[in-house]
Amino acid sequence: MSKRDYYEVLGVGRTATDQEIKSAYRKLALKYHPDRNPGSKDAEERFKEAAEAYAVLADAGKRAAFDRFGHAGVGSPASGGYDPTIFADFGDILGGLGDLFGFGEMFGGPRRRGGPQRGADLRYDLEIGFEEAYRGAETVIQVPRQEACGACGGSGAAKGTAPATCPRCHGRGQIRYQQGFFTVAQTCGQCGGAGRVITSPCAECRGAGHVQRERRITVKIPPGIATGQRLRLQREGEAGLASGPPGDLYVVIHVEDHPLFRRDGDDLYCEIPVTFPALALGGTVEIPTMDGSHPLEIPEGTQGGTVFRLRGLGMPKINGRGKGDLHAAVLVSIPRKLTREQRTLVEKLGQSLPQEQPAGADRTGQDERGVFDRVKDLFS
Ligand SMILES: [Zn+2]
Ligand SMILES: [Zn+2]
Repeated sequence: MSKRDYYEVLGVGRTATDQEIKSAYRKLALKYHPDRNPGSKDAEERFKEAAEAYAVLADAGKRAAFDRFGHAGVGSPASGGYDPTIFADFGDILGGLGDLFGFGEMFGGPRRRGGPQRGADLRYDLEIGFEEAYRGAETVIQVPRQEACGACGGSGAAKGTAPATCPRCHGRGQIRYQQGFFTVAQTCGQCGGAGRVITSPCAECRGAGHVQRERRITVKIPPGIATGQRLRLQREGEAGLASGPPGDLYVVIHVEDHPLFRRDGDDLYCEIPVTFPALALGGTVEIPTMDGSHPLEIPEGTQGGTVFRLRGLGMPKINGRGKGDLHAAVLVSIPRKLTREQRTLVEKLGQSLPQEQPAGADRTGQDERGVFDRVKDLFS
């Protein structure tokens, strides 16, 4: 049987306003609600059909897609397959009556507490050294987590026994009672909604079905990882309930600072003290990198504060494609103490160098303007 057109389902025209669609849906929902049509398969089908039509037509994006491509445009299931999110805003429409209808229970909204449930995700904060972040590492962490009980296989029932159907709700997990016009559904207090009760609990887990364990887990840290990044270890979280799958484990990385390098993305920054003569004469200076020292040619007359960019000497990119750069700033290193001989040489040098030049009078341009002029620029 082919699916009916959503407009036809709601009995509105293609140009219907949002308000008209909402109002048409409200009428149908109240008319075909299963609680008002007990046991009627037809009413239930119509009710679901209306809900699905409304979910699409009430959403501008989905409606436009439906207008253009029909059912294919909104990927609506050919049959069955209920999306509980369809009912997310149902409560609004019925003006607060949604809860009374117990939609959740009817369409698998809030999961029945006794059914299979995925385990919770876990977070583990891992501090690693800068070197480890650079080279990558493999480390073992100890994670306390809930694991399925081995003795009872997660059922919570003692060996040789099985959970029994709850006598109070007869396995439904909820108690329904009439309140005026509506049927109200409440979670069964005896089984907590599971529909089953454990008469002889497993000794190991005392009926819980899971036990707390300290598990040692090996974590592979890829080179280039940075603070705040998370590694997801699938299925290493808490055990699921009633043979539901386990959750995931998220390892959140914190990288220690490096005494020499500052990191920004994949690039590294450092400051290298160089003596005045080495800067003035130029030549080769040794630059520290994460892989040992590296020769760097600096030109004659290099100014303090000049930054040299060394390509490919930064952090590895996390995707494995190359490395960032290293930015090395050279600083003028002034000796705190001089020998008598050094002192004489520096004095001689000082006498032979010209005094502070007036602004703009440099032969080589503005870079060599005096520090005082540059400070003046800042405040003028
Ligand atoms: Zn057990
Ligand atoms: Zn029960």
